[in-house]
Amino acid sequence: MQTIMIDGKTLAAEKRAELKKRVERLLTPPHLDVIWVGDNPASQVYVRHKQQVGAAVGIEVKVHHLPESTPELDVLKLVEQLNKSAEVDGILVQLPLPKHITSDNVLEAIDPAKDVDGLTSFNLGLLLSGHPQMVPCTPQACMALIESVEKDLTGKLAVVVGRSRLVGKPLFQLLLAKHCTVLQAHSKTQNLTALTRMADILVVATGHAGLIGGADIKPGAIVIDVGISKKPDGSLEGDVKTEEAKGVAYAITPVPGGVGPMTVAMLLENVVQAAERKQNPVDED
Ligand code: NDP
Repeated sequence: MQTIMIDGKTLAAEKRAELKKRVERLLTPPHLDVIWVGDNPASQVYVRHKQQVGAAVGIEVKVHHLPESTPELDVLKLVEQLNKSAEVDGILVQLPLPKHITSDNVLEAIDPAKDVDGLTSFNLGLLLSGHPQMVPCTPQACMALIESVEKDLTGKLAVVVGRSRLVGKPLFQLLLAKHCTVLQAHSKTQNLTALTRMADILVVATGHAGLIGGADIKPGAIVIDVGISKKPDGSLEGDVKTEEAKGVAYAITPVPGGVGPMTVAMLLENVVQAAERKQNPVDED
């Protein structure tokens, strides 16, 4: 079987072009405020990337870079200030936060209307109840990548490996909403291979490099590799052994160049959507 490599970079570029047009139709450019605490080098790369890509579609990205030692209370005060600002459409807290700060406290403090990461209990609850507003970006990216090669997911058996609040749990809901039968696996799952080999759609989001080999994949499956691990030489690898998956899977996302670029595009879409809702409240669902 000739395996399709799903090109996340191209799909993300198409999404950004669409967003640029939507931004041009707005009265004022959307504003995304990023809170970045500490000096984690990976965070620095991600924050800069969001700034560049945001600017390219016409979004004003403002970064609030706070020192590592900033007390949680000060971060919460900043969130409150951004919640109240009429100018701010989206607030993003760059994770991880330093250890002395409880991430959940900070995330939950974000106004749900500005929660462009979709991680507040409020927005996750809306997703669960079938009325999503702000949906987490990586699960949205996974859906867009799956649907780029298969439009109708009705009745497909989807296996999601990973159950985090960021990826696995919200993705379960999105697949269910598209009428998949969904199984969720995690580190305590027994006989993972027996499950993954049944999957028409397999999404792997564990951070365990090379967890899934060719023999773990059902021939003809769509495989979405969310995981990112750094090899000793600095290059990146996913949770799936891509070379083994080739020839078995119908389609697979590469790492890098798959889920990553699409996740950023989906973040920008959430920001644009928040600005559209604010500026055109009558158009709201
Ligand atoms: P978490 O560490 O929060 O969750 C990992 C999940 O994988 C947990 O549910 C864990 O199970 C499960 N797991 C770990 N090891 C195994 C195993 N051997 N077998 C089965 N399940 C396992 O990670 P995230 O969800 O935040 O991220 C997952 C990966 O995706 C990471 O590599 C991360 O870097 C990447 N990522 C990539 C993004 C992108 O834009 N491309 C965006 C977000 C994340 P349990 O719950 O039992 O511990």
